[in-house]
Amino acid sequence: MFKAVLVENDPAGGYRAGLRCLDEARLPDGEVTVRVSHSTLNYKDALAITGKGPVLRTFPMVPGIDLAGTVEHSMHADYAVGDAVLLNGWGVGERHWGGLAQKARVQAEWLLPLPPQFSPQQAMAIGTAGFTAMLCVLALERAGVEPADGEIVVTGAAGGVGSLATTILSRLGFSVVAVSGRPEATEYLQSLGAAQVLERATLATPGKPLGKARWAGAVDVVGSHTLANVCASMQYGGVVTACGLAGGMDFPATVAPFILRGVTLVGIDSVMCPRARRLEAWRRLASDLDLSQLAAISTEVGLTDLLELAPRLLNGQVRGRVVVDLNR
Ligand code: NDP
Repeated sequence: MFKAVLVENDPAGGYRAGLRCLDEARLPDGEVTVRVSHSTLNYKDALAITGKGPVLRTFPMVPGIDLAGTVEHSMHADYAVGDAVLLNGWGVGERHWGGLAQKARVQAEWLLPLPPQFSPQQAMAIGTAGFTAMLCVLALERAGVEPADGEIVVTGAAGGVGSLATTILSRLGFSVVAVSGRPEATEYLQSLGAAQVLERATLATPGKPLGKARWAGAVDVVGSHTLANVCASMQYGGVVTACGLAGGMDFPATVAPFILRGVTLVGIDSVMCPRARRLEAWRRLASDLDLSQLAAISTEVGLTDLLELAPRLLNGQVRGRVVVDLNR
């Protein structure tokens, strides 16, 4: 038997998430069984637990798009019993039972060896949020953005992706302007390396097609008017990486920044990201992330805390990252 968060949706009980003790026989098919030691609560997991977004494709479902743990049984040559592994995305926790459980059974190709620089706890403090932040950084670099080009704006900065993006970019020598709706997070964002903190409201309402040209690069987790305003205030040739929709899925923009300032908008997806880029991103996290910052960025909780935490995360009341200790 193992403990898990289980989301059910049926006419009798409606949409509900609860803590359950499940028989191992209920695990889905897969080549590798992992004893999960740590997982996380991402934005998407909070949507899955609360039912506030159509994240889950089948029911009952164990949410959790991230996991770290040890191989307990393997039918694949790449993994042996006792190997430390890590998983982000691939639809796990959406259409295949995920990481918010003491056990998971998954396909070998979805797993990565846990980089030796990280404990499972640290890997989950990074999680999909940190992995996505690094995908944004890699995209900015591939497009040629350098620290000397000017400021990088990071929106939703006190959240998971935003916190990791702020600390990674600052450590790489970029001047980061963190945008946050939480004035009380200013000191925290400065401790992660933000050179300046801007109030969220400055970007959240409808703006002009083109504004003052300010940013060389951007990491946007908010979408909607914020993304439109970020695009409108890019320097000539600036690069915007768009990865989130915390403020809305719409994109009420004009083509002006693209056709008049040569701005590039790069979409970032962590779920189906090819394996080679995943390995590159985790290699760069191992070399470029200041691990001593992870303690400030993350809070550790147990499975029982999640049901109460999920709605708070969606309301923007959870700072940084949430690590779930499955043995707590
Ligand atoms: P968090 O909830 O940790 O952070 C989101 C942050 O966005 C909040 O902390 C808040 O920051 C800000 N925010 C929240 N609501 C609003 C609002 N209505 N308007 C403006 N800002 C708002 O989530 P994550 O960091 O885990 O994820 C952020 C986004 O990125 C989500 O939409 C998520 O789905 C997406 N994502 C996408 C991935 C991909 O593969 N493309 C992978 C991972 C995440 P503050 O308080 O500082 O203002």
